[in-house]
Amino acid sequence: MFTITTNSPEQTSLLGEKIANLIQDNLIICLEGDLGAGKTLFTQSLCKALKVKEIVTSPTFNLMNVYEGKKRIYHFDLYRLEQPEDLEEIGFYEYTDVEDEVVLIEWPDRFFAYMPEDYLHLKIERGNSEQKRIITINLEGQKYKNIYEELKHCGNISD
Ligand code: ADP
Ligand code: MG
Repeated sequence: MFTITTNSPEQTSLLGEKIANLIQDNLIICLEGDLGAGKTLFTQSLCKALKVKEIVTSPTFNLMNVYEGKKRIYHFDLYRLEQPEDLEEIGFYEYTDVEDEVVLIEWPDRFFAYMPEDYLHLKIERGNSEQKRIITINLEGQKYKNIYEELKHCGNISD
């Protein structure tokens, strides 16, 4: 586990871009954080770096959006999901059986027990000023270890 501090939306976007550029075949990210933390902003920056042309917004009502860029991206928002059984219904397990895709999952909080074996876990928390965010990064499984290690050693974005 390590943390990256950002002091502006632009710096959080830089992190999204950096992660996008580290993707080899596929990647799954669970994005934890309160309302307004920056989950969607992060997702937008990652999609932009993957050359997605569409407008990326939180898929709160339809639970998942699909974007096409250099990779196909599945963007989930589990906020409105009622129970774990519903994950199966919305095809969550098929979408997260990735080969050449990227999956971003907002509001995984109540469903960590049902998340895939391998993913990066990003938790965005507010710092002590309006534009400050503390982003804690964890590795689940070993599949994305390279990306995790690269991020860990790339230094702080706000430097
Ligand atoms: P969420 O999807 O987590 O609810 P959003 O990404 O929609 O949050 O909104 C985050 C808001 O916080 C945006 O208006 C963004 O401009 C603002 N913001 C301010 N500072 C930061 C920062 N350091 N990182 C990310 N967002 C920031
Ligand atoms: Mg959001």
